[in-house]
Amino acid sequence: MRAARHFPVTPSIPADLAGLRALADNLHWTWDRDTQTLFERLDPAAWEGVGGDPIALLAAIDADRWAELADDAHVVAAVAAATQRLADATRSPRWFQQRGDTTPLDLVAYFSPEFGLSETLPQYSGGLGVLAGDHLKAASDLGLPVVGIGLLYAEGYFHQRLDGDGRQRERFERLEPSGLAIHDTGVRVVVDLAGDPVTVRAWRVDVGRIPLYLLDTAVEGNSHAGAAVTDRLYGGDVEHRLRQEIVLGVGGVRVLRALGVQPQVFHTNEGHAGLLSLERIREFVSAGLAFDDAVEAVRAGGVFTTHTPVPAGIDRFDRDLMERYFGTWADACGIDVDTLMRLGHRDDEPDDPRFNMAVIGLRLAARSNGVAALHGDTSRAMFAGLWPGALDHEVPIGSITNGVHAHTWVSGRVDELLRRSVGGMWDGAAADDWRRVHDLAPDEVWRTRREGRAELVRFVRGRLGDDVLDPDALTIGFARRFATYKRATLLTSHPERLARLLGDPARPVQFVFAGKAHPADEPGKDMIAAIQRTARELGVADRFVFVPDYDMRVARAMYHGADVWLNTPRRPLEACGTSGMKAALNGALNCSILDGWWDECYDGRNGWAIDTVDDDDLHRRDHREATSLFRLLEDEIIPLFHTRDHDDVAVGWVERMMHNWSSLGPFVTASRMVRDYTVSLYEPAARHYARMASDEWGPARRLAAWKRHLRAEWPLVRFEGLDIPDEPAQVGDERTVRARIDLGGLVDDDVSVQLVHGRIDRTGSFVGAPHLEVMLRGDDGLFTGRLRVATAGAYGVSVRIVPAHDLLVTPLEVGLARWTD
Ligand SMILES: *Cc1c(COP(=O)(O)O)cnc(C)c1O
Repeated sequence: MRAARHFPVTPSIPADLAGLRALADNLHWTWDRDTQTLFERLDPAAWEGVGGDPIALLAAIDADRWAELADDAHVVAAVAAATQRLADATRSPRWFQQRGDTTPLDLVAYFSPEFGLSETLPQYSGGLGVLAGDHLKAASDLGLPVVGIGLLYAEGYFHQRLDGDGRQRERFERLEPSGLAIHDTGVRVVVDLAGDPVTVRAWRVDVGRIPLYLLDTAVEGNSHAGAAVTDRLYGGDVEHRLRQEIVLGVGGVRVLRALGVQPQVFHTNEGHAGLLSLERIREFVSAGLAFDDAVEAVRAGGVFTTHTPVPAGIDRFDRDLMERYFGTWADACGIDVDTLMRLGHRDDEPDDPRFNMAVIGLRLAARSNGVAALHGDTSRAMFAGLWPGALDHEVPIGSITNGVHAHTWVSGRVDELLRRSVGGMWDGAAADDWRRVHDLAPDEVWRTRREGRAELVRFVRGRLGDDVLDPDALTIGFARRFATYKRATLLTSHPERLARLLGDPARPVQFVFAGKAHPADEPGKDMIAAIQRTARELGVADRFVFVPDYDMRVARAMYHGADVWLNTPRRPLEACGTSGMKAALNGALNCSILDGWWDECYDGRNGWAIDTVDDDDLHRRDHREATSLFRLLEDEIIPLFHTRDHDDVAVGWVERMMHNWSSLGPFVTASRMVRDYTVSLYEPAARHYARMASDEWGPARRLAAWKRHLRAEWPLVRFEGLDIPDEPAQVGDERTVRARIDLGGLVDDDVSVQLVHGRIDRTGSFVGAPHLEVMLRGDDGLFTGRLRVATAGAYGVSVRIVPAHDLLVTPLEVGLARWTD
């Protein structure tokens, strides 16, 4: 029963321990193990009882216990030491400060629809949110100047329980703000939701040195509908989604301004956050820029990250919805609704007139990326239509592979092991340092592995009862959102084979599953039920278990304890996948489809690759990929795990664990990821933004005017004559190519004429990245270039004209390129 009224009561903490309050209020404790240990020691039973939540813990300790603690010199000293570590984490110079004057970067605003920082702040549903949380934590560790912007959902995401049939039931729970590590900033802004002025409140979450502002609308005075906008994560219909995205994007920019914060770089983490760019355009227009100039200004500091490898996963809004919510915006910007809709529309998709959030993300950010190398390829292919004339690899979407925040995810025992071998700063250490894990004693590594597994067994028994799991069995973990493409039921598609595998008393094996299906995803819920039905039917319910209510705590227990981390997406639908990285850092070996990060990180020895089968019949494809998985389990994984030396140490397994660490450790951390973002996206964006802003946005105006002129004249640009010698050649031969080109109203400096040459496939298309040579106009008025034949076989030569301007980030960004016929 919910109380009718409520108010917070501050615990009366003794003066010597008053620092605990600040330690509980900053989420730095979520990655500072000594502070976690300190909290636990204050009252182990209470800590367990509140599920490891420091704010709840401080409220749960009674006056007698406080008196005892205040008398305990060890506790007082531990509080002082933890306070010092927090001060150090929030103030001392780090990696970014060493960049000194070479960096142009002052501040990045990072917008995301969800942030997964801790199970005590349940504002995430899955990988996207946890990635955003890890990004902020790593930014804090690196001393990077970032502010985060997200939403505070009154009910967060749902809790999951399973009914008698093993079907997911959802329970939404209203969160009490005073029990969360959030602080009311006092800042309020108003956003207009189709004529309803809705007040947005800004809370602050301290993530080490990074402030994260979470916005909500559950504010007195708002209309009923207005107050409900930030009710739940990914709930409601399309219109509800749009309203949430307006509060996040438009409200988020306004909150930054109300706080007096002026980032140069705006990072949009997935399309949902993209409306921030529309608000920024409006700001520039109201400051006196023309609409086109404002677009250039916004693009300059914009970074967009796409996470969606399927078109169906992208938010799209109908015109009438956009007109209702952005009609006054268009008026304020001096444009009509058609121009607005064109911003979010793909010319190559005339049948879908909707406003596409990935498209504005890409258009309104000069820099964008996918989240793994393979996902970069997928994204370039998916969005190639936005840049006609670009070669496959030139589509201006790069990739930065995700990483995971090491100290959030690694167990105490593995941390200790890595500290001793790789070094105290193993998170962020180079490959040379990581190689030292090979010097660890195998029996010690194996003992650590066994202890981690035993801990997981205890954790699962705590939730499911003492008759499940075996601390000595090979333990295979699978935990993630139950989206159907992740195919949690690949194993249950071969029940007899699964039964045989689980029934071998000489080589015990067990599986632990966890994950939530979106409340509206019935096929996802069917998969959850199917796992438990299979367990019952095969009589293996003790070793084929499903742990309900997956969250970051369940996830940690599984990463710490699993021997093998299983990942079975339908390639290439897993953009990156990060759970396998967390498991790998803990010493688990990945057994995965070559999708997302694993496609670039698997080296043949650091885990296993399940075959991907090229088959349009999905059922048959799943069946064959399942066969490959079973073959790996039966022939390689289970035998290797159960092959022991005379001390019962699985030396072959340990050898793989060491190789797993040394090959993956330097790469899979969020520290590496955030450094990559800084150097390859944030700093160039900041430099570009500063340049565009100089001279009262003179360069932005100049670029916009030039693009207008270019677009007007482009239809007149044409090839009038071409001389490409095409007699057979030898590798190394040189050829001269000449082209007569009419540039219409453009001048030579407006364009770059390129000689394109390289290997071609059977359809005559260039393979990979062909060579590009500059062609210059000679005295005869012709553009001339020379090439040297680079490879044997069918060889192709072409000429193309692309725009050229010193303020372009890439010549392709205008979406114009003229190829010879
Ligand atoms: C890492 C993580 C995810 C993402 O896992 P994927 O492998 O990307 O599916 C989802 N939820 C939680 C709680 C996580 O920790």
